[in-house]
Amino acid sequence: MSNYVDDLMAEVKAKNPSEPEFHQAVHEVAESLTLVLERHPEYRQAKILERIIEPERVILFRIPWVDDQGNVQINRGFRIEMNSAIGPYKGGLRFHPSVNLGILKFLAFEQVFKNSLTTLPMGGGKGGSDFEPKGKSDSEVMRFCQAFMTELQRHIGPNTDVPAGDIGVGGREIGYLFGQYKKIRNEFTGVLTGKGINWGGSLIRPEATGYGAVYFASEMLATRGETLEGKTCLVSGSGNVAQFTTEKILELGGKVVTISDSSGYIYDDEGIDYNKLKFIIDLKNVKRGRIKEYVETYPNAEYTPLDANAPFNPLWNHTAECAFPSATQNEINLKDAENLLENGVYVVSEGANMPTTPEGVDLFVERKILYGPGKAANAGGVAVSGLEMAQNSMRFGWTREEVDNRLHLIMKSIHKTCFDTAEKYGTPGNYVNGANIGGFIKVADSMLDQGVV
Ligand code: NDP
Repeated sequence: MSNYVDDLMAEVKAKNPSEPEFHQAVHEVAESLTLVLERHPEYRQAKILERIIEPERVILFRIPWVDDQGNVQINRGFRIEMNSAIGPYKGGLRFHPSVNLGILKFLAFEQVFKNSLTTLPMGGGKGGSDFEPKGKSDSEVMRFCQAFMTELQRHIGPNTDVPAGDIGVGGREIGYLFGQYKKIRNEFTGVLTGKGINWGGSLIRPEATGYGAVYFASEMLATRGETLEGKTCLVSGSGNVAQFTTEKILELGGKVVTISDSSGYIYDDEGIDYNKLKFIIDLKNVKRGRIKEYVETYPNAEYTPLDANAPFNPLWNHTAECAFPSATQNEINLKDAENLLENGVYVVSEGANMPTTPEGVDLFVERKILYGPGKAANAGGVAVSGLEMAQNSMRFGWTREEVDNRLHLIMKSIHKTCFDTAEKYGTPGNYVNGANIGGFIKVADSMLDQGVV
C-alpha cells in the first residue's frame, strides 16, 4: 500500500509542479487513507481519491481596478471548485499577496473533508486573490472587491458555489462583494456567508471558527477528564480566528499569554483579559494597526519582531499547556513543535489551516498529545456558514444561543467522529487519521452513488 501512496504522490507532483502546499495536504490525507483503501477495494477501483485530488473546475481571471492615485492595478483572481458530491461548493476567499494556485488548491482540498465532517450538506471550494488589503484605503478595497465580483458572479450562486471569508476577507470585504453581486445579478440571495446581521448574516458566524477550535480542545481534554480552567494558552494571529479563540478561552477560565501578526508577537505574562482583548479587536479591526502597538498601552508585555530567517518562532517557546495556532499555514515547524512539547504543551487545536509542518504533525502524533488538526478543529466556521445558508433558505434567523448551541453540538459530533474513527481503524487517539478518514467516507460513498462524473 505504501507503493500506492508513492505512485500517487509521484503523479500528483508531476501533474501539479510548484505546488508544495498542495502536495503536503494530499500526502497527509493519502497516508491516512491507506487504512481505508485496504478495507474498501471499491474506492480504489472507482479511483475515488484520484478523482478527489483533481478539482472539478478551476477558474482563473484578471482583476483590473484603479487605485486612489488613478493608476491601473491588475491582480489575479481564482476560484477552485473542488468537489460537489455532498453539496454546493463552499469555502472562503483569501486576499493576501502569497495567494497562488497551489495554496488555494491545498485549502480547497482540505475543505472537502472538513465540510463533510460538519454533518452539513456542503461540497468544497476555495478562492481569492493576490491582492494585499493592508495599506489600502476603504475605497480602494471597495473598488477591488467590486472588480473581483464582477467576474466571480458568473460562476457562483446559492445552489452552486457559496464563498465566505478567510485571511484578508472579513465583514467589510464580504459587504462590498455582496453589494456588487446583488447589483449585477439583481437578486438578494444567500450567495455569500459571513454577511452583516442586517442583510442575511447569522449571529455567531464571526465567532464560530475561534469558538469551535476551543470547543474542540475542550472535547479532547474531556477524554482525559480535564477542562481548560486554569490552563495557560499560546495563541498566534490577531485576526478573526485568534480574537474569538481568545474570547472563548477566557470564558472557559483559561489564560492567554501571546497573540501576533505577520510582523511579530506580544507576550503578556499577566494574561490578555477582556479589556485587553477589546483593545486588540479595535486595533486590528477598526484602526487596522499593528500588534506591536499593544505594548504602548500595556507596557508590562513584551513585543518581539518576527525574524523570518530564524530557525524557530519564539512565540511557541513559552511555558503553557495549550496552543492555538490561528494565523497561517506552516507556522509551526519541527523545532517549534519540539519547543512546545518541552515547554509543557500537550493540547494543540488548530484554528488555522495546516499550521503545522508534516514533521511537526508526526512528532505530535508520536508523542500522543491531544492534537486536533485544522480540518476538524477549525470546522466551526464553515459549520455556522452552513447554518447561515439554512437560515437564508428559510428566510428566518435563529438567536445567538440557538446558533451557539448548534455550533457546540456540531463540534462535539466532529470530535466524536474523529475519535471513534481513529479507534475503528486501529489508531486510537490519532485525530489526523480520524479526521481524514471520517471526512473521506461520506464523500467517497456519495461519489460511488453518483457514478463517474
Ligand atoms: P485574518 O485575516 O482575520 O487574520 C490573519 C492573522 O494571521 C493576522 O493576524 C495576520 O497578520 C496573521 N498572518 C497572516 N499571514 C501570516 C503570515 N504569513 N505570517 C504570520 N502571520 C500571518 O484571517 P483569519 O483569522 O480569518 O484566518 C486565520 C487562519 O484561520 C487562516 O489559516 C485561515 O485559513 C483559517 N481559517 C479561517 C476561518 C474563518 O472563518 N475566518 C475558517 C477556518 C480556518 P497581519 O495582521 O499582519 O496580516
